[in-house]
Amino acid sequence: MESSKFTGSCHCGALTIELETSRAPSELPVRICGCSFCARHRPRYTSDPAGRVVIRVGDASALGRYRFGLRLADFLICRTCGVFVAAYDPAGRAVVNLAVLARAPELVAEPTMFTAYDTEDEATRTARRARAWTPAELVLPG
Ligand SMILES: [Zn+2]
Repeated sequence: MESSKFTGSCHCGALTIELETSRAPSELPVRICGCSFCARHRPRYTSDPAGRVVIRVGDASALGRYRFGLRLADFLICRTCGVFVAAYDPAGRAVVNLAVLARAPELVAEPTMFTAYDTEDEATRTARRARAWTPAELVLPG
């Protein structure tokens, strides 16, 4: 199957994101995370380890990177409009917050809940993300 693109952005457009995948929308996983950050934002995530994500930052001053817990990933939040776009591991992997994608309604898989967040150690988490997250690039301006 040929690949398709899912594009989206924060509310003001300073951060844009593109997910390229050869999976049909109905075959993309939908995940809910049980960590204390996600308890507040309630994002639903998707990823495709065989796909590709590009996050483009139009305005560097708008890029907020929030780290917590094991501090292994940046939660990318627009400082201008406050929208949480994606979690990005500097090793080059990401999960996308479905809510920012224009085609989010096409992702109809039953959400699965991830609850082991507080008990994973660094090696376990890194290995899980390498398996499950999407290879990603964060493109800064200029
Ligand atoms: Zn914004």
